[in-house]
Amino acid sequence: MDRLARSLAETGLPHPLLVDAARAAIAAGDPGSAAARAADAGRRLLAPVINGTGVLLHTNLGRAPLAWTQEAAYSNLEFDLATGERGSRQAAAPALLARACGAESAIVVNNGAAAVLLVLAGLAEGRDVVVSRGELVEIGGGFRIPDVMARSGARLVEVGTTNRTRRADYAAAVADPARAVAVVMKVHQSNYRIVGFTEAPLTAELADLGPPLTADLGSGLLDSRCPWLPSGPPGWLEGEPAARQTLAAGAALVIFSGDKLLGGPQAGIIAGRADLVAACARHPLARALRPGPLVLGALQQVALAYLRGDGAAIPFWRMAGLTVEDLRARTGAYEGLSIVEVMSVPGGGTLPGVEIPSVGVAVAGDHAEALRSRSRPIIARVANTATVVDLRTIDPAADEEVAAALRSLAG
Ligand SMILES: *Cc1c(COP(=O)(O)O)cnc(C)c1O
Repeated sequence: MDRLARSLAETGLPHPLLVDAARAAIAAGDPGSAAARAADAGRRLLAPVINGTGVLLHTNLGRAPLAWTQEAAYSNLEFDLATGERGSRQAAAPALLARACGAESAIVVNNGAAAVLLVLAGLAEGRDVVVSRGELVEIGGGFRIPDVMARSGARLVEVGTTNRTRRADYAAAVADPARAVAVVMKVHQSNYRIVGFTEAPLTAELADLGPPLTADLGSGLLDSRCPWLPSGPPGWLEGEPAARQTLAAGAALVIFSGDKLLGGPQAGIIAGRADLVAACARHPLARALRPGPLVLGALQQVALAYLRGDGAAIPFWRMAGLTVEDLRARTGAYEGLSIVEVMSVPGGGTLPGVEIPSVGVAVAGDHAEALRSRSRPIIARVANTATVVDLRTIDPAADEEVAAALRSLAG
């Protein structure tokens, strides 16, 4: 077995993993399968892939693309360089994000779900939270907002109906003497739409009910005017709620993810009234949910780009903002291959039904597996018996590599 494991050394995998592959191959009575088993173990490691799917925020591919490198070094994570005393890890990136969306204060936790959990635990533990029946969202992976609320220790009070909820429904629950409503919560219907005979109050209509209005925006659009894009907001963003405008309309807090439309690392942001943010930060769960310096460093880079108005520095916005002409200009690299019209989608459980015209390259037949097996895997779509990659989600620096891979399939 040891000899078999050693024979796989050129895979570069550590010896214990090669021993596992060799052992499993021998146990299966097929020592010859050891190399394939070692290759499988290699494919389970986290590695960069080329996203040819055209899904900008591909949940299975880590949502927003992001590059962040840092040398081995200490940082002033919790050290105030001005006073020489203990500082807060929430003083850098979270404060910059608060500035960028017009909030008094903000804190950052591990993801959007953690942010929902912390707000409810921090503000409504043992008390009631009012939510519309039309907004009890399941995000994906079986993850349901009502379940998170229950875990926070807050009691969920559902009001209205699936398709219609009015201000009066919320007001009646708040006024009910049998209840102790600590938070009124609006949850963005991120990945679905209810159309037809529908009604829901605007943020501004719920701002004066008494309990602080919290809006779980999910997607993390900072400002609906998109001042970081030279040509302003793209048409497909129409109607998407944004942090700045939701706070301006009277929400006391907004919650959003770092890796959806914000274009940053996996994180959850709680922004709004300073006293409420502080109450969340004081809750014991805050420590269990806090991010480390790698995430905060990457998020700071993104927040600074927003404050500079530099959307081109945020890979998600750079890709989202490409015009069909920009993409056509790259097709020279794909000469000899079939250029097709395709539609990109925002993805990540945001903006359902939205499609963004794009440019793709197609090869007849289903080659998804061959492209996935490359040393740098290319993830493609297969549609109508053709394999298609969408240039929008491919870094132009990878065009030659992708073109060569597609040519080898076509040839
Ligand atoms: C995506 C989403 C969440 C969960 O955020 P994660 O960062 O995936 O944990 C919560 N609420 C809404 C409305 C969302 O869209």
